[in-house]
Amino acid sequence: MTGARDATLRSLDALVGAELLPRAEAPALRGVEARYSIAVPPQMAALIDRADPNDPIARQFLPDARELDTTPAELGDPIGDDAHSPVPGLVHRYRDRVLLKLVAVCPVYCRFCFRRETVGKSGALDAAAVATALDYVAAHEEIFEVILTGGDPLAASPRRLREVATRLSAISHVKLLRVHTRAPTAAPELVSQERLDALQAAGKRLYVALHVNHPRELFADAREALAKLQGAGAQLLSQTVLLSGVNDDVATLETLMRTLVELGIKPYYLHHPDLAKGTAHFRLPLARGREIYAALAQNLSGHALPRYVLDLPGGFGKIPVEGPHLEAMPGGGWSARDRFGTRRVYKDDAGRAQMPA
Ligand SMILES: *Cc1c(COP(=O)(O)O)cnc(C)c1O
Ligand code: SF4
Repeated sequence: MTGARDATLRSLDALVGAELLPRAEAPALRGVEARYSIAVPPQMAALIDRADPNDPIARQFLPDARELDTTPAELGDPIGDDAHSPVPGLVHRYRDRVLLKLVAVCPVYCRFCFRRETVGKSGALDAAAVATALDYVAAHEEIFEVILTGGDPLAASPRRLREVATRLSAISHVKLLRVHTRAPTAAPELVSQERLDALQAAGKRLYVALHVNHPRELFADAREALAKLQGAGAQLLSQTVLLSGVNDDVATLETLMRTLVELGIKPYYLHHPDLAKGTAHFRLPLARGREIYAALAQNLSGHALPRYVLDLPGGFGKIPVEGPHLEAMPGGGWSARDRFGTRRVYKDDAGRAQMPA
């Protein structure tokens, strides 16, 4: 561990000490601290403009009293991972690819996290569980791609990453290894040569999907970490969550997407925020999201445009938000067609928190 990692702010008191939170606000946030993990690494703390009450970086990572308000539509497992988990740590929802949740920790905790009920509350999947998950992958020849997620898989030790990669190298039907991570921006030091070597030991085509929401997150050290991944042969993709008060304007998203393509990263997904508990203040109405996306599609080249998707609650999968998959229903709400053509009702509850959790 480097000194920089040790300086991660992990409590309200630490945030007060770093002058990121007024002392007077701390008492009202104790309930949030007790319920959800807090971590603001030094690189992210340094990006926050303390003079700006609406700072888009602060909004993503500093606890907010509204996190204890929930809406009736919100869920503990908003995208239904559990419904498609054949063995612990593995999610097999789409035929040709699986998620492997290698660790439950992240270098930074996003206040809107879709796995906020679990992240930071346990450590890594143990060696026996990893072995069982990879036995499942080996036994299912339809699995073409293994996606390491979490938590943040780059928070796993190089040794654990190498174990997974070595095992994958012997599974010939798996051709792609993908890593979903926020580490290049949240904790660039995690993109170490040891971890790159470990991932390469799989001998698979390597994809890395970066979670990034605001152009300011792409600071110099982050760019260096991304270049290292590219140097190791990884194809880079991005995932952005469309968040009220962070990036819900066309200009910010345009800048973000252009910066990404300039860095050789293909903008992949723009996610509508999931119905995670205590996150209503981050959600915007789907109709507003569609307006923003239409403007973005008009202004950006095709290769700079991510797909705008909604993960249907209950484990029914991702659907495009634009186009015919979603229809506004008279009297409110949306009728969503999942990938099997079945209609699902989606309740659009943007900003409508009302019940204490
Ligand atoms: C999003 C997701 C994937 C990856 O889907 P892609 O469209 O390939 O990025 C895989 N499994 C699950 C369960 C997912 O939610
Ligand atoms: S990096 Fe991803 S898994 Fe970790 S807290 Fe943020 S959204 Fe959740």
